[in-house]
Formats: sequence, C-alpha cells, structure tokens
Amino acid sequence: MKNIAVLGSTGSIGTQTLEIVRNNPELRVTALCAGSNIELLERQAREFLPDLVAVYEPDKAETLSLRLRDTGISVLSGMEGLKEAAAHPKAEIVVTAVVGMIGIRPTITAIEAGKDIALANKETLVTAGHIIMPLAKKHGVRILPVDSEHSAIFQSLNGEPAEKIASIILTASGGPFRGKTLSELRHMTVQDALKHPNWSMGRKITVDSATMVNKGLEVMEAGWLFHVPTDLIQVVVHPQSILHSAVEFTDGAVIGQMGLPDMKLPIQYALFYPDRKPLPVKRLRLTDIKCLTFEEPDPKTFRGFALALSAAKQGGSMPTVFNAANEKAVALFLQEKIGFTQIAEIIGFCMDKLPALREPSVEDILQTEQETIRLIEENWR
Ligand code: NDP
Ligand code: MG
Repeated sequence: MKNIAVLGSTGSIGTQTLEIVRNNPELRVTALCAGSNIELLERQAREFLPDLVAVYEPDKAETLSLRLRDTGISVLSGMEGLKEAAAHPKAEIVVTAVVGMIGIRPTITAIEAGKDIALANKETLVTAGHIIMPLAKKHGVRILPVDSEHSAIFQSLNGEPAEKIASIILTASGGPFRGKTLSELRHMTVQDALKHPNWSMGRKITVDSATMVNKGLEVMEAGWLFHVPTDLIQVVVHPQSILHSAVEFTDGAVIGQMGLPDMKLPIQYALFYPDRKPLPVKRLRLTDIKCLTFEEPDPKTFRGFALALSAAKQGGSMPTVFNAANEKAVALFLQEKIGFTQIAEIIGFCMDKLPALREPSVEDILQTEQETIRLIEENWR
C-alpha cells in the first residue's frame, strides 16, 4: 500500500492522478486539496475517503466542511490547509499539481516532512529550484518529474550521473500557433490559444504552450532537476509529440522516450518509481505515425521563449520576475483584458524594471512576486 496526497486534485493533472489511483488498489489517498472547486472536491472526497481535504478559499472550505459532516473527513483552508495536507503523517508521496507559485511553500513543507515529491508544479522549481533541490537532498527525498518531457529525460537517463550528459534534447509541440508570424499572433484570441493540438491541460499551461513560455519554464525546470547548465539544453520543435524528450550522452548515444501523448504515463511512472506498472493506454504504432519531424524554435516570434532563456541566464530572482509576470499576464489575457502578444511585452517590461537578487530566500521570492504583480497593476489596468 502506498499513501499519496494530491495538491490540486481538481485540475487536469490532479484528476488524471486520481484515475490512476482508481485503477490501482495499492494506492490510497490521504489528503486532497483544491483552490475553490468544492463540487468536484466533495465528489472526490466521498469516493477516495482521504483523512483530510483542504480548500484554499476559506468560505468555500466552510461550506465543504458542512457538506462533509457525515464523513469524518477534516476540512482545512488557506496556506495552512495546503501545508497540513503536504505534511500529512501517513502520506509517502505528495503530488504537487497546483498551478503557479502557490506551490512553493507546500512543496517545501512536504520535503521537510520527508515526503517524496511527484512534481508537476514546475513554477516551484523555476523560481525556487536553488532552495528545493538542496533541501530534497538534505532530507533524502526524491523529486520525481511528472512533466512529460522531464519524465522522458528521467527515464532516458535511467540513473546515469549528470557528468555523462552531453546535452538534453527537450521537445516542444510548438503549440497551436507554430509557424505564425508576429503580426498574425497579435490577433489570436483566448479561444484560439486554448486549442492545443496534442495535449488537453489546464488553461494557464495551455496558454503557456501557445506563447512557448512553457518551453522556457521547462528549460529552467530541466536545469534544476538534472543538474545541467541551461545552455546544454536544446529545444527542438517536434509537432507530433511522440518523442517526449531525449538525452545525448558523452559517447554520442541519444536515448529518448516515445509514446502517444498521455499524461497518465508520466504520472504513474512517478507514483511507482522505480517500478514500471502496466497502464491501459493507447499504444504507439510507428507505422501509423509514419513521419516524425523536428524544427528549430522561433524565439523572434515567440518572444516569451527568448525572455525565459534570458531569465535563466540572469538567474537569481529573475526567473521569479519572469514567472510572476507571466502568471499575471496570462490571467489578464484569459480575462480578455490584454491581447496575446502583450503577455510577452509585460514579461519583458517587468524584467527590464526589476533587479535580479542573488540567491533569493523564499521570502525574497514571494516579495519579488508581489512587486512584479504591483508593477503590472500600476501599468496595465
Ligand atoms: P489546472 O488549472 O487544471 O489545475 C490546477 C489545480 O490547482 C486545481 O486543482 C486548482 O483548484 C488548484 N489550485 C489553484 N489555486 C489553488 C490554491 N490557491 N490552493 C490550492 N489549490 C489551488 O492545472 P494543470 O493540472 O494543468 O497544471 C497543474 C500544474 O502541473 C501546473 O504547474 C502545470 O504547469 C503543470 N503541468 C501540467 C500538465 C498538464 O498536462 N496539465 C503537464 C505538465 C505540467 P480549483 O480547481 O479549485 O481551482
Ligand atoms: Mg511539459
């Protein structure tokens, strides 16, 4: 029996994680958390019977607590609730599937409580990788990637040390706007951006895929996870999303992981690592696919991607400025308050205005996030 806590259980990764739990009697859920979707969280709580659930919004937590009175499940709220769920004494592994920098504190709490992390929440590593990775080492816990590319790299590495890596080949689908010009991008609507060709995901990461900011975040995520400088990570656009990423070793061998796009595979691999369990997914038939293609990315058109590489190079708190500006700008875009290309403009503006602090603490990171949000609110109303 393996006990798991799922932070962000009502989202795309969270619900797919629970699908895996449903099909594996040896997994048990100890805690579930969401932001505000108490309708789904109530159904999940009644099906999986965790010891506790946490809802970030306090009034929603109160309503859910009344609704779950008959079950004996504790209902908590706010950051304290998230942290209690992350440190639940019975959990062995915590799936971090919340979206955004809200994931930093509960991830730290889970590591300090000795839990392995199945990490989907890439924003935590992008902004606080220099804190998370040494902390995980100190507490002897594993950070197991859920992001499909990073799971592919992890599977390809298969325990080989970082010194054996010549480069990492990080694949990108190119998103719905691959091949478009900058002037075409200016007219793209929220609906256009939410139509990802290969993956069905939450709204924020789907927009990040359309801007290619997601790939920039993934370069930084891979740098932390696999201890490689980001200039050894080559991004290759591969529109079929069959090769999920690969590692080039020092002897020239290139080992990659392929499969049809389905997040359940990397989620399940992280949950059972080092065991590989059967999974009833659609199988890859290369003769059906016939052709795999690879292209250079276009950082001039997808400026958010170029800015991510610049933030990675500057380091310190600049990835936090980049990430916080992106989170806020994507929220404004989804509310139809700004246009698609303004997402990158806002990120660039914030990176020009705000300084990069060296070795920022968690407090510095959260303060930088607030300063970035304030700067955007002052300039884009
Ligand atoms: P979704 O938007 O689908 O889900 C986000 C989850 O986080 C929901 O359960 C949401 O709850 C919860 N949440 C939001 N705010 C809070 C909060 N303040 N406190 C507690 N819970 C909160 O996102 P995804 O599942 O798509 O993505 C989750 C993470 O995984 C992201 O970091 C993303 O980059 C990463 N990822 C996702 C992939 C995918 O295929 N979806 C692939 C690779 C990485 P509620 O429903 O109540 O709002
Ligand atoms: Mg990915």
